[in-house]
Amino acid sequence: MTKLTKKEIDQYKQKLLEEQARITGDVSSMEKQILNNSQRDSSGDLSGYSMHLADMGSDNFEREFTLDLMKKEQEILYEIQDAIERIENGTFGKCEMCGCDINKTRLKARAYARYCVECKEKLEKKNK
Ligand SMILES: [Zn+2]
Repeated sequence: MTKLTKKEIDQYKQKLLEEQARITGDVSSMEKQILNNSQRDSSGDLSGYSMHLADMGSDNFEREFTLDLMKKEQEILYEIQDAIERIENGTFGKCEMCGCDINKTRLKARAYARYCVECKEKLEKKNK
């Protein structure tokens, strides 16, 4: 496996920063969405009470779904931050389990990958 060049690492960093900005934007717009929904719920318009109840079910579902998505995005954000740190301290592109160089194809798809394909598969098997 060839080592990553400075230029390649810069490209990954760029990609990570872009993804970080995109996800941060996503998360904050989801936060706003949840906030808006909550405000609508607590506005307490009693004239349409039964309608309101019917609405609430789907709102809750939607909120749960958004929260779930937000959690996933926040996890990715954490992974991205970690990957950027690894770039700073020069361990980027190395598998945290076995220390080998992570396949470039894998890094291209997921610049924040922490493990090589083999270790990732081992981990997934263990978690099942
Ligand atoms: Zn590995």
